[in-house]
Amino acid sequence: MSKRGERNAVYEELLAQSVRTEQGCLEWAGYRNHKGYARFGKSHKSVSRRVLEASLGRKLEAGECALHRCDNPPCVAADHLFVGTIRDNNLDMARKGRSNPQKLTEGQIKAIREDSRAQVVIAKEYGISQQLVSFVKNRVRGAWA
Ligand SMILES: [Zn+2]
Repeated sequence: MSKRGERNAVYEELLAQSVRTEQGCLEWAGYRNHKGYARFGKSHKSVSRRVLEASLGRKLEAGECALHRCDNPPCVAADHLFVGTIRDNNLDMARKGRSNPQKLTEGQIKAIREDSRAQVVIAKEYGISQQLVSFVKNRVRGAWA
């Protein structure tokens, strides 16, 4: 079988296990992880990633993620998926309210680190939590986006 044919076979096999919804999503009927994302195979590979790779005709790089336009985790419709970076994924999740990393610019981060006032005062000024001020000062990575 040609490379292209193999890819299409995988793609069709995955899609055959999915159900079309009224919203036009293709919902995965197989195993889903705790966040509702479609997984397949023994090692619980990401179905959306596999479908996106098949539709792009290339592998996603290590730092790339398959993101959903439709915000429906079990959806594996190729036209609802797009390539993003892990950073995009974090921003996307923040925007959709799934997690809550607070946004700070590089300049703000620098200013907060140099600010000697009480953390509560700094937090108020930037409209962020005191916890985040503490994270910024202690350089806890990933606490802000
Ligand atoms: Zn969808």
